[in-house]
Amino acid sequence: MRRSSKTWVEISHSALTSNISAFRTHLGETGIMAVVKSNAYGHGLIETSKIADKAGVEWFGVDNVDEGLALRKNGIIKPILILGYTLNSRLRDCIDAGLSFVIYNTETVRALQLLKVRPIGRHPSKNIRAAFVHLKIETGTTRQGIAGAELRSLVRALKRTPGVVIEGVMTHYANIEDTTDSSYAELQLKRYHKAIKLLRDEGIDPPWKHTACSAAAILFPDTRFNLARIGIAMYGLWPSKETQKTAIHQKQKLRLTPALTWKTIIAQIKYVKKGTPVSYGLTYRVQHNAKLAILPIGYWDGYDRRRLSNTAEVLVRGQRCKIVGCICMNMCIIDVTNVRGVRPEDEVVIIGKQKTEEITADDLAAQIGTINYEIVTRINPLIQRIVH
Ligand SMILES: *Cc1c(COP(=O)(O)O)cnc(C)c1O
Repeated sequence: MRRSSKTWVEISHSALTSNISAFRTHLGETGIMAVVKSNAYGHGLIETSKIADKAGVEWFGVDNVDEGLALRKNGIIKPILILGYTLNSRLRDCIDAGLSFVIYNTETVRALQLLKVRPIGRHPSKNIRAAFVHLKIETGTTRQGIAGAELRSLVRALKRTPGVVIEGVMTHYANIEDTTDSSYAELQLKRYHKAIKLLRDEGIDPPWKHTACSAAAILFPDTRFNLARIGIAMYGLWPSKETQKTAIHQKQKLRLTPALTWKTIIAQIKYVKKGTPVSYGLTYRVQHNAKLAILPIGYWDGYDRRRLSNTAEVLVRGQRCKIVGCICMNMCIIDVTNVRGVRPEDEVVIIGKQKTEEITADDLAAQIGTINYEIVTRINPLIQRIVH
């Protein structure tokens, strides 16, 4: 293969499709929303979405209008829900592109009224666009959402707004990944049911009811309703150790395969004497006469300077090699003293497998006190994603 970039991300087509079909089996009748926000958790928005589309997911979940528009531009015609905040100035774009969005405050309803979307049904032409909205219920995450007490007035305001279709009602759990104790999730679910009842009293029964993220969908069938919003697990990563442990304890058959491999190459090899300081700040001195390799990636690429310097490992010729010294903006240094036959432009694995060794997003997350989500979403979106 002729390489054109000094670092790239490989996405496994078969891993993504097998994770999606594993969920298909696991979820039965429940539909799948492929959550592809944040550049598909670093996996490449368009690349991933095309694969998920073919694999038959029912919905796409994005963070913002621009991600939604990018999907439309690339031929995704399935329903897309914008999960994050939509500026009032972008509501028109949502309506024109048929992007559903989340609603939870009266200001947005007012902005919709000002847009004067034509009432549905009065002009039964194909060109009529509606504002498709999903009500986000605040059930205890204390983030985006409308509290139960304000729900009725919001719904009444929406009912008075022409051209609005309440297509979904949703909520999001606060503490579903980090614990094997489901009591808080149960409380949230109870509040969600109460909201659904209130909506019914108002004569509204949205066709899509959804509360589950990956962890909820994996462990708690009651959270699934008719749609599950699957992010991290679609990429083959477990939402947390606790989720994985509980799934094993429940004797689940769900198998997840990580879909992402992040690679670079060796840019230079050099031999240095014991005591030689390495990189900015002289934070490392070689402990022995050493063979070092320079890698052409750094914190710009998403390789955390503060926490991975002098800590992380990469794979070269199937062997683990330590990052030595400070990670720079576009370069870092590894110790390859024990690796035989290393040459410039040898392939280096930052995340993924090489021969019998593997460095996972979970390994890096554990090393630096974060979650696998942050490791993969931080990989610079400008790095090329190659689907295999
Ligand atoms: C990101 C997100 C998800 C996906 O969560 P995972 O844990 O990655 O499955 C689901 N719902 C909402 C509202 C989200 O923002």
